[in-house]
Amino acid sequence: MSSTTQTSRRVVVIGGGILGTSSAVALARRGADVTLVTDRSLASGASGRSLAWLNSAAQRSSEYHALRVLGIDRWRTFAAQIPSAEFLRFDGGLMWAPEGESYAETFAYERGIGYDARWLAPEEVASVTPGVDPAAVAAEGAIFNPGEGWVELPSVIEVLSREFVARGGRIVTDAGAEIASSGGRAVGAVLANGDRIEADAVLLATGPDVPAQLAALGITIGDQSPAAFVAFTKPVAAELVAVLNTPKVAVRRTREGGFALDSAWSEEEIEVRDDGSLHISDSTVERLLAEGSRVLAGNPSLELDHIGAGYKPIPGDGEPVFGAVPQLPGLFTAFSHSGATLGLIAGELLADEIVDGEPSPLLATFRPERYAESPVPA
Ligand SMILES: Cc1cc2nc3c(=O)[nH]c(=O)nc-3n(C[C@H](O)[C@H](O)[C@H](O)COP(=O)(O)OP(=O)(O)OC[C@H]3O[C@@H](n4cnc5c(N)ncnc54)[C@H](O)[C@@H]3O)c2cc1C
Repeated sequence: MSSTTQTSRRVVVIGGGILGTSSAVALARRGADVTLVTDRSLASGASGRSLAWLNSAAQRSSEYHALRVLGIDRWRTFAAQIPSAEFLRFDGGLMWAPEGESYAETFAYERGIGYDARWLAPEEVASVTPGVDPAAVAAEGAIFNPGEGWVELPSVIEVLSREFVARGGRIVTDAGAEIASSGGRAVGAVLANGDRIEADAVLLATGPDVPAQLAALGITIGDQSPAAFVAFTKPVAAELVAVLNTPKVAVRRTREGGFALDSAWSEEEIEVRDDGSLHISDSTVERLLAEGSRVLAGNPSLELDHIGAGYKPIPGDGEPVFGAVPQLPGLFTAFSHSGATLGLIAGELLADEIVDGEPSPLLATFRPERYAESPVPA
């Protein structure tokens, strides 16, 4: 149980993506007095242009794996409580290796840690998960992870923001904000129009903008956020339900009945212009659509609906950055790749830390201070 003082804490959350919104609603559930401030509209950042594959496939630190598995657990609870079948699905994930490589070791590793995985020969795929062209599958076969899924984050952000407002939370949109500090601690936010929001704690959850915003305060967070894009297609009749992670394209369904597509090679073809704008050539998009078609049964022609382009938040060492920023008491941050998978669990744990002042052991290896420079010897 929280004391009266704890539950009356005032918190300002900067950034209306999945991490900011889920933290804001979790804080409101804990009784905090919360203002969520975002520039443009909610979900206008990475959360609005994410592949949002819910997974903990392949190999990573055991702490990161544990957190991702908890992340998937929270999505399952959400799915059981909220009518979300159109925008949150657990139809599994299918992946196969590039030519000249094998996923046999990855499969053995996943089985070894109890991550649900089946090995499928190309001719077995259709009977387990529909809609894949068996000719596109690697000759050695593919890994099917039945527990994986995908989510349309803007739909979730809409649901969470409704609950947030119903619980008394305030949302300020079209408001770029900066952290306000005084006396060596974070004391709220200053909006671009000069308005100030006073708070006992500030959560900076501005996606790929986190490292630059902290750098402006002299705080270093390792950053390798690349320019990225997802191509969203128009609705198309096709049987695919699983998320596909294939050598040339990743594919998932969308709420509207189209597909979301991305890949590493198409990301690398993005041109970052001198003015900072991102340029994606028609030929890159056409090839990505063709790669998508190639892995789908019947090779349907895919028509572009729109592109979602911008930076993909990835911390310098690939692992999430969550929790208190020790250089500025009162300031917390959330900066993560896999922010879709972690979207609900991270908000829940951060809210608990902000309200209770108790660090969660689940976030112990993800602290911002791992990037702090070694103290200069006296
Ligand atoms: C192409 C792509 C593919 C991905 N695939 C996956 C995947 O398969 N699985 C997975 O788990 N994750 C995936 N991710 C990652 C995941 O989408 C992100 O980690 C997650 O959406 C980040 O959410 P966020 O809330 O941190 O940031 P964002 O969604 O970027 O939200 C931050 C918000 O802050 C706002 N903002 C910025 N500066 C300010 C300011 N000064 N004042 C006020 N507001 C500000 C922005 O406008 C934005 O709306 C992918 C991301 C991309 C881009």
